[in-house]
Amino acid sequence: RTGLRKCFNSRIQLNWRGQRSFSAQTGGSKLEGKVALITGAASGIGKETATKFIANGAKVIITDIQKDLGQQTAHELGPNATFLPCDVSKESDISAAVDFTISKHGQLDIMYNNAGIACQTPPSIVDLDLAIFDRVMSINVRSVLAGIKHGARVMIPRQKGVILCTASVTGLIGGIAQHTYSISKSSVIGIVKSTASELCKHGIRVNCISPMAIPTPFVMEELNKYFPGVESEKLAKMVNDFGVLKGAVCETGDIANAAVYLASDDAKYVSGHNLVVDGGFTTMKSLDFLTPEQLK
Ligand code: NAD
Repeated sequence: RTGLRKCFNSRIQLNWRGQRSFSAQTGGSKLEGKVALITGAASGIGKETATKFIANGAKVIITDIQKDLGQQTAHELGPNATFLPCDVSKESDISAAVDFTISKHGQLDIMYNNAGIACQTPPSIVDLDLAIFDRVMSINVRSVLAGIKHGARVMIPRQKGVILCTASVTGLIGGIAQHTYSISKSSVIGIVKSTASELCKHGIRVNCISPMAIPTPFVMEELNKYFPGVESEKLAKMVNDFGVLKGAVCETGDIANAAVYLASDDAKYVSGHNLVVDGGFTTMKSLDFLTPEQLK
């Protein structure tokens, strides 16, 4: 029993707020022998997912538009990680990344379309710059479609494979992000349902994950534009305070754990699903503003 408690305790970490966070088993063999390709994996959710995939026995091709950081990440993750530069706004780069994975490892088991951006746009639809809309859609939506297309190209002949995409809670409810970003993430959920309906007959599962806000580099960069000069720690706290689940904040590891589950045989009958990792945020509207006097 003491041994068990020791093992459990070793998996509890403190996050930056000093709260206890339960980190799922880092090691394991859920993805033994699998080969994964992850876009936007130089940092944030993609990097954390690559780390957990490797800890579970997979070999991972890390792709990103940031070459130096991508190389550094691959170096950090060790011999089972390989970096390849890839700009997901170019279909030819995505196609080449899939071909590179096959030439290096002979197979592609997990294609994770994760790269995404947000671009500062005016809050009103009336002022929307459609050129910015096109840019966000090209990276957040068109690239996901291209990733599924080229992933499926090499998975269909094997009649198996797993495709994952990163959507967002902002794709489920309006008013918590810019229109461009919200619309793009809503589209990812639609793409997953549409393509899962075709690819199921080839044994290929397609799912997405909708994370709650996490203070990763692109979120912090966007917030810095809205709140110039405010300390990073304060901005990160603001992001974490969006959450509603008492005693926890959403972390990249929570999304990576969801990705390991969906990529593994634990989810062998799960397809066309949007796994929302938001601590209940999208299920509720708080009535805290109602005072007992108002209810009388
Ligand atoms: P991040 O900034 O840590 O990672 C995003 C990565 O995508 C970066 O490494 C960046 O270089 C890369 N990238 C950007 N444009 C690219 C392009 N054209 N080609 C290739 N790579 C490109 O941020 P993150 O939070 O880890 O973001 C990962 C995904 O999670 C994104 O799709 C994002 O929209 C989504 N998401 C994030 C949050 C959050 O709050 N952090 C919430 C919901 C969804």
